[in-house]
Amino acid sequence: MMIKQISVLGCTGSIGRQSLDVIASHPEEMALFGIAARSGIDTLIEQTNRFRPRVVACETAFDTTLLPEGTEVILGAGATSKLAAMQEADVVVNGVSGFSALAPLIESLKAGKRVALANKESIVCGKRLIDHVLAEYSGEILPVDSEQSAIFQCLQNGKKKEVDRLILTASGGPFWRMPREELNSITPEQALAHPTWNMGKKITIDSATLFNKGLEVIEAAYLFDLPAEQIDVVIHPQSIVHSMVSYRDGTCMANMSKPDMRLPIQYAITYPERIASSCAQLSLYQEQPLTFHKPDLERFLSLKMAYEALKAGLSCPLVYNGANEAAVEAFCSGTIGFLDIERVVDYTLNQHTPKALDTLEEIMQEDRLAREVATQMVERVSQERRNRY
Ligand code: NDP
Ligand code: MG
Repeated sequence: MMIKQISVLGCTGSIGRQSLDVIASHPEEMALFGIAARSGIDTLIEQTNRFRPRVVACETAFDTTLLPEGTEVILGAGATSKLAAMQEADVVVNGVSGFSALAPLIESLKAGKRVALANKESIVCGKRLIDHVLAEYSGEILPVDSEQSAIFQCLQNGKKKEVDRLILTASGGPFWRMPREELNSITPEQALAHPTWNMGKKITIDSATLFNKGLEVIEAAYLFDLPAEQIDVVIHPQSIVHSMVSYRDGTCMANMSKPDMRLPIQYAITYPERIASSCAQLSLYQEQPLTFHKPDLERFLSLKMAYEALKAGLSCPLVYNGANEAAVEAFCSGTIGFLDIERVVDYTLNQHTPKALDTLEEIMQEDRLAREVATQMVERVSQERRNRY
């Protein structure tokens, strides 16, 4: 295998750090070309000194004299997108969080790259644009999100017309058994302690609300081109089965491993090859019993709304995402309660008239609008809370 040159976007985050680890562990297969971050300057400098990428990009300007001599530096707004399109890289790992991952994703695809895509918000928001770009340029998307990587692998065992359904597993987060009345007193600190995965802040909150699974239902529908009716969610707290595909003859293929994001990151880079990894082999008799539970859509409105947004199509998934991003920020800053996240998204979706979004400008404009409407609801909810106490 030729050595692949790799850029890591969002290098200071959870996916980014694990990607650097994967690359450093495979010097015969992979080399680090560039890294990009937004604001984690200290980590960025430390990573540059340790991993020696040729290019460092940062959305925020900083004193670059602390970087090794000869490092090429790209600074300021749009730096991530510039690195994303650089000719020298073969693969771009996109581990930027939230909607901001979309612009660099488009740049990478236009430059003909393989994108190992961890970010899900970009697919949920940019479906039509991504489809245009994939049709016109030679770029490709390999999923890193563990559920989508699992489905991608399970789908290699049959044809699309033979698929009965995709079954996404969900850890359920820390609260899925908690009575709904108790959920609104959950603090950001409680929601940030995830039982099986160590991830960035936003996705950890999304895992607790199940908005993460809602986004993944939409992500799966878009990545694998299947309707909402063919996508199921099952709660599986041990996170050993990463997802499944059932076929029309009754066969169900499952993808299993220890929960370790380095595995899907590595596979998206090396596909179609499989190479050795530092991830421990699975010994099922040493694991907790594997259990599966049906989620109650009336309890998890986050999931119910995702199905509705997916069925309504057009800009609805984007609004679902944008309102959730705004609501999660408000929850983390203590402005609204845990269940208010759902209320904010529900309100924003109800205010929305679906439209087709084809360009990045149209998508960004609609995302801003959704956040504005969501913020109005955040203010109303926070006023209610202040009146109550
Ligand atoms: P983190 O919050 O840990 O990291 C986010 C990274 O993105 C940071 O490096 C951050 O830079 C960078 N970033 C944030 N905003 C911008 C921006 N506007 N422009 C450029 N860079 C930006 O998130 P995670 O690593 O947990 O998640 C990343 C993505 O991967 C998410 O979409 C998530 O849903 C998805 N994912 C993550 C999994 C995980 O295990 N963590 C699993 C499956 C999917 P800085 O910190 O320097 O500001
Ligand atoms: Mg996932």
